Amino acid sequence: MKISSVGICLFSLFSGSLATPLCTGSLNVESVKMVHKIIQAAYNTNDTSTWDSLAEMTDLYGNRMTGTVQYDRSAEWVLRNAKSHPELVAWGEDVSVDYWQRNEESVELYIPTREPPVVKLNMLGLGLSVGTGPKGVEANVIPVSTFEELEQLGNSTIAGNIVLFNADFISYSDNSKYRRLGAENAQKYGAVGVLVQSITGYSLNTPHTGSMTPSSIPAAAITIEDSKLITRMYNRHKAAKADPKIPNAELFVPPKVNIKMNAQNHLNYTRSPNIIIDLKGSEKPEEIVIISGHLDSWDVGVGAMDDGGGAFCSYDALKLISKLPRRPKRTIRVLMWNNEEYTSKGAKSYFNTHKDELDKHVFAMESDIGNFEPWGMRVMAPQEQVNKLAAYGKLFLSDIGGGNATITTTAPAVDITPLCNYGIPCGSFETLDIYTQKSPILLQGKEGYFRFHHTDADRMEILDPRQLRHNVVAIATWAYLLADE
Ligand SMILES: [Zn+2]
Repeated sequence: MKISSVGICLFSLFSGSLATPLCTGSLNVESVKMVHKIIQAAYNTNDTSTWDSLAEMTDLYGNRMTGTVQYDRSAEWVLRNAKSHPELVAWGEDVSVDYWQRNEESVELYIPTREPPVVKLNMLGLGLSVGTGPKGVEANVIPVSTFEELEQLGNSTIAGNIVLFNADFISYSDNSKYRRLGAENAQKYGAVGVLVQSITGYSLNTPHTGSMTPSSIPAAAITIEDSKLITRMYNRHKAAKADPKIPNAELFVPPKVNIKMNAQNHLNYTRSPNIIIDLKGSEKPEEIVIISGHLDSWDVGVGAMDDGGGAFCSYDALKLISKLPRRPKRTIRVLMWNNEEYTSKGAKSYFNTHKDELDKHVFAMESDIGNFEPWGMRVMAPQEQVNKLAAYGKLFLSDIGGGNATITTTAPAVDITPLCNYGIPCGSFETLDIYTQKSPILLQGKEGYFRFHHTDADRMEILDPRQLRHNVVAIATWAYLLADE
């Protein structure tokens, strides 16, 4: 924090006039003092507690897929931890959840010139995919890079084959449609299975899973490298068919794969909780500011980045505020959502269970796009409120980062979507790209995040203790301001 700007702000408030535009709103001098204390925590370089506690939980229980015992044990770990803080009120709210079980799976590619000719590909079945049965699905692969290309090829080319969506990474929103809707679309033209090039701009032969719209044909993600290999095989075979005299034409076979997936969908499999942790407000405890991340993860890696970081930074922001000498007026509520990764049952259940108090929710924040150097919030709220938040951010968070606030017209994060669409002002807390330090609002500003997203590489080593501490401080600053103005 720039001490001079605080001085100006405090001076104005002490004198009773709000001369500086950065001190607008109903912030009082006590709020400003508390925010100043929060920000001091950023400079406590000995404090690695957020990183350490997330490492402890993920080391103990591993990944936390909804419906698994690891999820429930992790949820119990959080509740035990929260109950050791008497100023916090913590409980689990059971949600009826489905369970998608991966089981054994493989993709084999036939290259008869190799020894052995069966090449096992790194792959991950897509969440909610059907299984293939024990024999698997075996067929030639037709690569396409867009849905338009799929449509042009149509039934005559696609029927009986496996479609590979091989689009290169532009951004998550541009590319994830092939993972989500690829099987549904390919099925219309008689495809018997789908492969999707993993959604990332960079690969160490790493497959990335993710959810899909359920379809009657199986779907799996393969790596960029294998997607390109299959595409080259397809093109060479096509060229050899057009001109059998090209060199080595007789060696160019069409790409043929066998997909085996024993995946099973278990509907209404079990009851498993959202975690809720409250710090009750001092004057208006019935009014609520949510800060949140999702506790569930995929069944690969340990979900350290997605979204252990968001969940734990939100939780530790609440702990930081709970230690202040002055509580904010409103209740700050940490949500650790269940089931973000495939059917958002946790978010839907919270919305329905808390229908009667939705009008008392004054803001809902989620952090689910990485916790690197803090950038700020994309906010779905009236422009006036966003301007005010941007002014607060500039005033308080210029030094440690995390103070940007820009407007968005669509719900900016998955779990808070029902709340945003209900009309509750809401924001996605976001950070700079882990490698390029580009802003998350730029097209390529999250490329680093997607190198690890939904992979076995989503481990603690992506996260940095200092960056997590700064995320905690930035989230706590926003939460305190929103709960106390
Ligand atoms: Zn996530």
